[in-house]
Amino acid sequence: MKEFNIKDLVRKNILELQPYVSFRDNNTFENPVFLDANESAFGECNRYPDSTQKELKEKLAALKNVLAEQIAVGNGSDELIDLIVKVFCEPKKDAILMMNPSFAMYGFYASVNENKVIKLNLDENFGIDKEEFLKISNEEKPKVFFLCSPNNPTGNSIEDIEFYIQNFDGIVVVDEAYIEFSEQTSCIELLEKYPNLIVLQTFSKAWGMAGARVGIAYALQEIIKLINTVKSPYNVNSLSLNKIMQLINYKNIIEENIKNTLSEISRLKHELLNIECVKRVFPTDANFFLIEFNNAENVYQELLKNEILTSKRSPQIPDCIRINVGKREENNKLINVLKSI
Ligand code: PMP
Repeated sequence: MKEFNIKDLVRKNILELQPYVSFRDNNTFENPVFLDANESAFGECNRYPDSTQKELKEKLAALKNVLAEQIAVGNGSDELIDLIVKVFCEPKKDAILMMNPSFAMYGFYASVNENKVIKLNLDENFGIDKEEFLKISNEEKPKVFFLCSPNNPTGNSIEDIEFYIQNFDGIVVVDEAYIEFSEQTSCIELLEKYPNLIVLQTFSKAWGMAGARVGIAYALQEIIKLINTVKSPYNVNSLSLNKIMQLINYKNIIEENIKNTLSEISRLKHELLNIECVKRVFPTDANFFLIEFNNAENVYQELLKNEILTSKRSPQIPDCIRINVGKREENNKLINVLKSI
């Protein structure tokens, strides 16, 4: 096992900063009068949210079998991607590594931070070529590797994730946004083994809370402290925090939703395979399909005419469209339009 000194990987100016924690959130009171934050005394949402998101972290710690100190809460996992880049990548100097194709926001936040984006092209089955990975890692020494599994937009899970964590001289971020739909075990259980690992999860997909904007990072305490150092103090609003905490109490509803999504995925897959304009349906471990069509542009436009919005992936993945499953009647509409093309 490689020894990691996380401090060596961090941007130097970040090491000099301390996380912002409001005095209020760091203490307990019996009957407080809050005159410290220039809030209004009136209204339903007049108080700033807990800057430490303590209650949510305690719930998640119990749910995921980690310490509350191993959890950072973001305004969606998008914000956490941004914060991770800010913590580890010196602008104009460091690079990030991402798979290609993969989730575009890794490249977006790196570019905003003036970091080079190195792309690791996936093979014909959308897997990683290990030799190519080792070559790029050794030659270009990217600081952060964003490994998305199941991958967006291809839908497949990445095999042997531990190999990439072991063989990377920087931080490996395993983005598990779609993990609840897959049979893959979460990398959260590897955290004690690998100090260079960060696992991202989100409430936006299986949990059905994309509008609330809540994403979670799991890592060892030292990394979490750094992420908390660069985040905005009140990055997640109290309405969202409360809603997510309620939802965790009713986890069985979410499990039912996941079951329904998976059964629609398998029904849809069966239907798609019998549609003429469909050339190939790639295997998926997520709530969406990557589909190759005989004429993807035409299919995309025909769907759009029927007000069915999908995500066109050409020319990067030629003739492919990414389509997520909807409600049963929405999926039926999709099938009917595709049959008519
Ligand atoms: N990671 C992946 C792989 C995604 O597909 C998405 C959303 N499309 C995100 C992260 C961002 O999720 P959030 O809503 O939590 O910001």
